[in-house]
Amino acid sequence: MSRFRLTVVISQAQGKHPQRRALEEAIVTALFGDPRFEVSVIPHLYDLEADHPARLFLQSIRGDLVVLGWLYPRAIFWVLDRDGVRGLWGETRLKLPEPAETGESPAATSAESQNSNSELPPADKLRPPPPDRYIYCLDLRDAEQAEPFVAEIQRIYKEAAARAAQQQATKQPLLAVGLRIRPSQNDAGEANGQPDALAFSAEELLRPPNRRWYPVIDYSRCTNCLECLNFCLFGVYSVTADGLIYVNHQDECRKGCPACSRVCPEHAIIFPEYKSPAIAGANVGGIDGLKIDLSKLFGGADALKIAAAERDRELVAAGRQAVGMTVGIPKRQAHKPPAPKDELDKLLDQLDAAEL
Ligand code: SF4
Ligand code: SF4
Repeated sequence: MSRFRLTVVISQAQGKHPQRRALEEAIVTALFGDPRFEVSVIPHLYDLEADHPARLFLQSIRGDLVVLGWLYPRAIFWVLDRDGVRGLWGETRLKLPEPAETGESPAATSAESQNSNSELPPADKLRPPPPDRYIYCLDLRDAEQAEPFVAEIQRIYKEAAARAAQQQATKQPLLAVGLRIRPSQNDAGEANGQPDALAFSAEELLRPPNRRWYPVIDYSRCTNCLECLNFCLFGVYSVTADGLIYVNHQDECRKGCPACSRVCPEHAIIFPEYKSPAIAGANVGGIDGLKIDLSKLFGGADALKIAAAERDRELVAAGRQAVGMTVGIPKRQAHKPPAPKDELDKLLDQLDAAEL
């Protein structure tokens, strides 16, 4: 029986950043030559255009996948989803959680909430189910040294290998990894003795993309209310033939503007490069046992006014008329009750401290 191999992809930092590059290289060096891992390096995931070889490469991967990048894990997961790289949320344990008083595993609780099919949010019901494989996302900002990442990848390997062995035992083999990296552009590429159409050289994979800016929808939260579609006056959002909201014209979004994330009643819109962690995809809604009024992290009572002002600024910059609050301002859905003031203040302090 051939040995199970786990695909690990490192999404590089934008630009030249020696410390970040050093961490990326240290992780590659630690895993390189280890037969358990198939390791690849790609440019910054968020910037990949539809025809970038690295994106085609990601789409060709079958089986479980670990992706490390300079974004919040939730942002990595939903950028991948938007790029057609779908799977179930793989719970990671880079930051060890506090022991739960109930004795219930926090990993199991969180994985349940991400993957449960019984209570899919409305938008997710309109989408085909994800493939039966797990995608583990790690934020490279979470540690300065390679060791914690390597230890976590080794832990994930055991989990994924055990799952693969179980699937083999039940005659449902895990899909094989369907990619290869060519040593150079001159190598024609071969897989199992056959020419491999999806083989890319390292140079092709690392072709630097231009920087991009666009919203990403977290379909585990989205209710398909279409408020973002009504609010955006730049034609970024569309609906599919089945009526599902999606980000259609990504590059029509105005660089630096996060306006529609403040309008979304479910806080399902992520701008992975925005400076505020809540809008950039920090999992602030998933903090154990802490019920918070998420809207405060998106502008609070003034969120709609802030969003309208941000939209006006972009309309005027594009030579159009400002519209203020007269167009596409949604009627907010009822909010959950806010948390006690001291809990929320503590969280906001933590988020401010984490702001990059
Ligand atoms: S506003 Fe939010 S919840 Fe509503 S459709 Fe858009 S992303 Fe989904
Ligand atoms: S940030 Fe502005 S331009 Fe971009 S999608 Fe949202 S509303 Fe449209």
